[in-house]
Amino acid sequence: MRRWMIKFLGALVSAAMPVLPSAAEPAAYAGPLFDAHLHYNVEAAQGPHPLDDVLGRMQRSGVRAIVANSRPNDGSKALAAASEATRRAGVTVVPFVRLYRHRDDYTNWFRDPSIEAMVRTELAAGTAAGPYRGLGEFHLYESANANGPVARSLMQLAEQRDLVVLAHVDDAAIGLLFAHAPRARLIWAHTGIGGTPVERVRALLRAHPTLMGELSYRPGLTAADGQLSPEWRALLTEFPKRFLIGSDTWINARWQAYEQLMAEARRWLGGLDAKTAGLIAWGNGARLFGLGEPRQP
Ligand SMILES: [Zn+2]
Repeated sequence: MRRWMIKFLGALVSAAMPVLPSAAEPAAYAGPLFDAHLHYNVEAAQGPHPLDDVLGRMQRSGVRAIVANSRPNDGSKALAAASEATRRAGVTVVPFVRLYRHRDDYTNWFRDPSIEAMVRTELAAGTAAGPYRGLGEFHLYESANANGPVARSLMQLAEQRDLVVLAHVDDAAIGLLFAHAPRARLIWAHTGIGGTPVERVRALLRAHPTLMGELSYRPGLTAADGQLSPEWRALLTEFPKRFLIGSDTWINARWQAYEQLMAEARRWLGGLDAKTAGLIAWGNGARLFGLGEPRQP
């Protein structure tokens, strides 16, 4: 075959082929997963993703426990109430109170006393799977809003009642939230979705011993080959007990990609030593909420 022909065919092949693991790539992590950032919002629950569908996706992905939160809270309560179906799927539901009744609440919850009243009512009622274990996910698009009266009050409530907080905020807001409640247990959703420098993440982990990072959508976490970037491999290895994985099923497209998202996580987890991978995949979430061994489907 002529050289140009080989080149031409080579280009065709590389355009059509997905990126496959190279022979040198480590085996993917094969143990249980704890999905620490899952939403079961109304668009999914009352649309194309009824309970059987989402539990099937979790089961096929080897997800054995989830932080369930939803807008409104009905989705989480439906998951918590489906004890037979979740048992069959081998999924333990850890319910959180979402701070949003509808989309308008995203940008005003931190100063809206009716949100705090809703949260207290939900906490008092609990769920069919037991008491709520956390608050969130909430967003702060401007870090200064961490000083809103309801944000302060809910951080203090979380600290008093040992509820875990799931917060989608920037690095400046992490310090402001901890100033209200220094011993609160806080999961930083995405660990800096705007690309907070790794050095800054490291400094925050050192400054706040109860801070943990959830890794969905984290820029720079993985390189083009789907494996961890060197700086993130170093950070996760230095702090093996401080990170969690998550799917962030905030829109239905994330549900459609659920199994792929979990496979991607398994792929980069495989690049860590087995102990660190097991902690980030499952052990840290299980410890945070006092779960035992994963359920078996
Ligand atoms: Zn989210």
